[in-house]
Amino acid sequence: MPKKYETPLLDELEKGPFPSFVTEIKKAAARSDMAADELGQLEKSYRDKRGYWKHGGIVGVRGYGGGVIGRYSSLADQFPNVANFHTVRINCTSGFFYTSKFLKEACDIWDKYGSGLTNLHGSTGDFVLLGTNTENLEPIFAEFSSRGWDLGGSGSALRTPSCCVGPARCEWSNIDTLGITYACTQEFQDEMHRPAFPYKFKIKTAGCAVDCIASIARADLSIIGTWKGKIATDQAEVANYAKKGMKIQEEIVNRCPSKCMSYDGKELKIDDDNCVRCMHCIAKMTKALKPTGEKGATILMGSKAPFVIGATLSWVIVPFMKLEEPYDELKDLIRKMWEFWDEYGKNRERIGELVIRKGMREFLEFVGIDPVPQQVKEPRRDPFFFWTEADLQK
Ligand code: SF4
Repeated sequence: MPKKYETPLLDELEKGPFPSFVTEIKKAAARSDMAADELGQLEKSYRDKRGYWKHGGIVGVRGYGGGVIGRYSSLADQFPNVANFHTVRINCTSGFFYTSKFLKEACDIWDKYGSGLTNLHGSTGDFVLLGTNTENLEPIFAEFSSRGWDLGGSGSALRTPSCCVGPARCEWSNIDTLGITYACTQEFQDEMHRPAFPYKFKIKTAGCAVDCIASIARADLSIIGTWKGKIATDQAEVANYAKKGMKIQEEIVNRCPSKCMSYDGKELKIDDDNCVRCMHCIAKMTKALKPTGEKGATILMGSKAPFVIGATLSWVIVPFMKLEEPYDELKDLIRKMWEFWDEYGKNRERIGELVIRKGMREFLEFVGIDPVPQQVKEPRRDPFFFWTEADLQK
C-alpha cells in the first residue's frame, strides 16, 4: 500500500470550479508509490516555498540524444520512490488523434514502468509520461517502439512538430496541417533525435489565422494557412445573422483590424485588397463568409514567451507559400534557416533572438528571400507620413 501523506496546502488547490492536477495525482497516489512520494514532496515544496528537483546529468535511451528529461529529487532519503523521476516524451500524432487501443496500451505500459501520471499534451505537443526511474527507460522505449511509436524531441534540437486538427475536422483549413507536420517529422528525424542546434527549435502549423495551435506565439517557425482570393459573401445569411441578433457593425465591422469592411444595415461589403486574412469575420459568420481562390500558407519566424527581450510574436518572412507534397520549398527554407543559425547563433540563443540581434536584412539575404512590404513588423503605421483621401483612393 503506498504511503499516505497529509497535504493541507495542496488540498486548497482542489477547491473551486476547475479540474485540479492535485486530485489527479491523489488518484494515482492511491496505487503508485512513485505518485505518492511525488505528492509528499510537492506538499513539502509548497510548505517550504522551494523546489526540490535538481539536475543530475543526462539520461536517455541508446542511440538517442533526447526524448527523456532527467529529473532527480534532492530529498531522496525522505521520498525514495522519486529519487529518479524522469520524463519521457513520446512523439505525438499530427493533430493529436489517437485510437482508444493505443491510449489503453500506453496507460498499461506507464502503470507498469512509471508513476501513472501523464501530461497530454506538453507545450511542445508531445505525449508526456511523467516520472520513471533510470532502469525502466530502455524497457519503456522497447514497449513503445515495438508498437511503432517513437520518442519526441528535447534539448537543443528540433522539437516534435505539432499542428491543429486541420482538414481532418475543420472546413476552414487552407492547408494540410497534418501532412506538413508528418512530412517535417519524417524529414528531420536526425535533427530531432540528435541535438546539434544552439538551442530548441519548434515548428507549429495552423490551418488558418484562428491559429488553434497558437503557432504565432510559441514557434520558431509558424506556418499559418491563408488564401489569395476574395471572401465570398452570402448576403441572405448576413441578413439571417442580423435577424438573430448579431450586431454586425459592432461585432464584425468595427473589429476588422484593417477596417476594410462596411455594412449599411442591408449589405456587408469587403474591400478584399486591404483584408489581412485575420479570419475574425469568417470565424464569427461561418455561414455567410467563405475564403476563395488559391490556398497556401504564410511563413513566420521567431516567437517565444521568455525571450531575453520579453515575449515576441512570430514575424512574417514569406507572405504566401504554396504548400503541396513533398513540401520541398518549405524543407529547403527550414534548412537554410538552420544554416544561418548554425553560422551566427550563440549558445542558447533562439533563432528569433539571433534575427533581432543581426537584423532581418542579413537573415533574408542569407536565406535568399526577397524583401517585401508584408515583412515590415513595426511600425505598422508611419507617423511621419500623412495619407490624403486621394492616396487612399488609388
Ligand atoms: Fe477584416 Fe479579418 Fe475579415 Fe479580412 S478576415 S475582412 S481583415 S475581419
